[in-house]
Amino acid sequence: MRIPRVDEGALSPATIQALLDGGVSRAVDWALEHSPWNRARLQAAGVRPDSVRGVADLRFLPTTSKHDLAAAGRDLWAVPQAAVVDISTTSGTSGEPTLCPMTEADLQRLAENERLSFTCAGLAAADTVLVAVTLDRCFMAGLAYFMGLRALGASVARVGSGSPALLVDMVQRLAPSAIVGVPSFFEHTAHWAAGQGIDLRTSSVTRLVCIGEPVRGPNLAPTPLAARAAAAWGARLHGSYGISELAASTCECAQGAGGHLHPSLLHVEILDERDQPVPPGELGEVVATPLGVEALPLLRYRTGDIAALLPGPCGCGLQTPRLGPIVGRKHQALKLKGTTVYPAAVQRVLDAEPGLYGYVLVARSDGALSDSLEIKLALREGEDPSSGLRARLQGALKVTPTLTVVEPQAIDALQQAGVGRKRRVFIDER
Ligand SMILES: [Zn+2]
Repeated sequence: MRIPRVDEGALSPATIQALLDGGVSRAVDWALEHSPWNRARLQAAGVRPDSVRGVADLRFLPTTSKHDLAAAGRDLWAVPQAAVVDISTTSGTSGEPTLCPMTEADLQRLAENERLSFTCAGLAAADTVLVAVTLDRCFMAGLAYFMGLRALGASVARVGSGSPALLVDMVQRLAPSAIVGVPSFFEHTAHWAAGQGIDLRTSSVTRLVCIGEPVRGPNLAPTPLAARAAAAWGARLHGSYGISELAASTCECAQGAGGHLHPSLLHVEILDERDQPVPPGELGEVVATPLGVEALPLLRYRTGDIAALLPGPCGCGLQTPRLGPIVGRKHQALKLKGTTVYPAAVQRVLDAEPGLYGYVLVARSDGALSDSLEIKLALREGEDPSSGLRARLQGALKVTPTLTVVEPQAIDALQQAGVGRKRRVFIDER
């Protein structure tokens, strides 16, 4: 499928709506014609070719869950194996990693997505950018960044995520303007550099494009980790949010007011508990339909992430819709004494505690309608158990979880016992 290459700065609300309507209509027709699993479901819902004319007709279609995607397997694929040129997997933080096949056109679309995202972050052909994430381990994002920067015409060095020494060395040799990576790696690298007598605040780097960890809380204020990384590098942080299954991402502009969506490539709905759309500014589940995809056509895909579409135009002048920070994951929502608490909110409090070595959250069921939360935490050497932490948790969450202090080795073992590429900080025993 051919993707319209757009200049998002020139898009009006009317052209954005036309892109979304045309993209949704073509996505449904493609899935109906080429994907056996989708065809069966769409026919059962009474959908015929050309019957979905645009975004407004999406509400007649069933949603697709992560479980559906895993259960359908290759029945969902819309191209023969011979047309597939790249296969990556999801990160597997919630269940088995899922295969994400892509055709040559899908790879071009992936590159276009990141070209648009980096453009939002203010990058252009003249920039030199270090990619400090892994490009292997079946990881889609690293490949996407490389291809997107190449499409932008920027100079790229694939530094990877393994070595602070290599990253700092390449910063000094190449004088890059930006780095793509994980906020905790940026902080770790700044700490390492300081130990070598190197002050990264005086380096050429002015932008850090962040993936993997949230850089803002619900009120758009930087997370403690993001604030520390920005200060250590003397650079602006641009948060991005990507979903491998959708081969799509958002990226913040310089306003830091939500991630800009790319309407030529993705349509996003925010749905409440009853699957009804909520108004801009209200939280709900992010349900997305990727546009222009060939191999893995997903319609109304339930990401499980909770966020809001942000109302009003952005100060940067772009008219494209913006997605606010992810405040939590739907299936992780905890009912604590009648209050809904997301583990991400607990993590924000814990990440701000300088004396903590590490932590793991353990959720258990307390009965039919109620959960309990235990925080296992380890303290840095010489630190006292923080009495203020209990009060800060109470202030942020309105309830106080059980705190258990353990040895650092116990935290390391719990965090590494999970599957997937990310360290495990939430254990759900419900
Ligand atoms: Zn903006």
